Amino acid sequence: MSPKENRSKAAWLSFALVLAVGIGIGSYFRSETLVPAAVAASQGAAGRPSPVKALADRDVYYPGTEDLAPDEMRVTACGTGMPSVRPKQAAACWLVELGNGDKFLFDIGAQSMSRISAMKIPYDYLDKVFIGHLHLDHMADLPSLWISGLKANRTYPLRVWGPSSTDPELGTKASMEYMRKMYAWEVASVTGKLDDRGIQVEVNEFDYKAVNKVIYKENGVTIRSIPAIHAIDGATSFILEWNGLKFAYSSDTSPNNWWIEHTKGVDISVHESFAPPQVLIDKQKFPVQLALPLSTLAHTSPAQFGKIMAETKPRLAVGYHFYNDHDTLPAQLEDIRRTYEGPLAMATDYMVFNVTKDDIRVRMAAIDEDIWPMPSTRPRQVDRSRKGAGVMSEFTKSGDYFMKDVLTDLWDEVNRENGTDVKLPAGSVW
Ligand SMILES: [Zn+2]
Ligand SMILES: [Zn+2]
Repeated sequence: MSPKENRSKAAWLSFALVLAVGIGIGSYFRSETLVPAAVAASQGAAGRPSPVKALADRDVYYPGTEDLAPDEMRVTACGTGMPSVRPKQAAACWLVELGNGDKFLFDIGAQSMSRISAMKIPYDYLDKVFIGHLHLDHMADLPSLWISGLKANRTYPLRVWGPSSTDPELGTKASMEYMRKMYAWEVASVTGKLDDRGIQVEVNEFDYKAVNKVIYKENGVTIRSIPAIHAIDGATSFILEWNGLKFAYSSDTSPNNWWIEHTKGVDISVHESFAPPQVLIDKQKFPVQLALPLSTLAHTSPAQFGKIMAETKPRLAVGYHFYNDHDTLPAQLEDIRRTYEGPLAMATDYMVFNVTKDDIRVRMAAIDEDIWPMPSTRPRQVDRSRKGAGVMSEFTKSGDYFMKDVLTDLWDEVNRENGTDVKLPAGSVW
């Protein structure tokens, strides 16, 4: 059964349960007063109450249907799995939306763009990405946001924050320069044809050694970085603070003193809880010699995650970076609960956290898989006057099969429908 079917089934089961409880209470007491108003509103053929109204509280998040309160933070898991993606879980990505309208992405791993698109946010609002370290599973979909955002009318630079390293070649600035080179053909193909102002990337490389130093401060939002210990120098974690609420995000790290010192008492603490060694051995056939250091030294295993949360006591601890399945979750929980008894959520993709000073609500989002990217809320500038770097040669133009009759009819039809007068050029090369 696919995750979507699973979710639909779960949603139906909970709906059925609510219904059964409502009807059950009504029948037991033989009293209409205990039957919910919506249920009581109509009578079915059998003379029993039959619901015709929407339930007041569906306990599911439907993207794009809820206001974010001015004092509220909404955190959405857009990638929670292991480094290799799978249909159920993309690689690391966390979306943080604030009641002041600001939106931030923390890491943007492989396949996370599909999850981001499901949140129904116009891409031109998603211009701030914080990358904890430059592993593929934490940044592979950055080019996708960069270019898809431009094509969705982001007319300003994509802003990227990421760490330095011991060698400038290993830092975020160099990485972004190479990304642009890797996509030279893409850049050339949009330059001068589309509104290409969004092709710029504003790179904010910060010192990976900085401890709790402010790397972002705008509009009442402060983001600090702390060093992480992972693979090689140049891994970091983040702490976002706004309106008295704190979100901490580990990206990848083994247990370290900086995290313990600076994330104490945060509202929501998202930290890796990697697959424990035995799971890597059983499921991935890793040799013990590799499974042990990978799970517990390069990453943080669930047993270590538990101890970190016990020492930092967040309002809600959130474990991620593992395959969250019926046969892996019990081992995760068993290890975590050796050392931590506090509030806990084990993340999977599309888990949503609504955080206020009074409450933290955890739900799953119901996803519309037919979603299109949200149209931009700002007018598009149609401007092809600039000359692009990419040139269509006479050779390529010589192959053009210009269907003048077909296109004349089609262009006329669309112009009529829209009240426009866009002229068909003399050839189909654009
Ligand atoms: Zn990593
Ligand atoms: Zn990772």
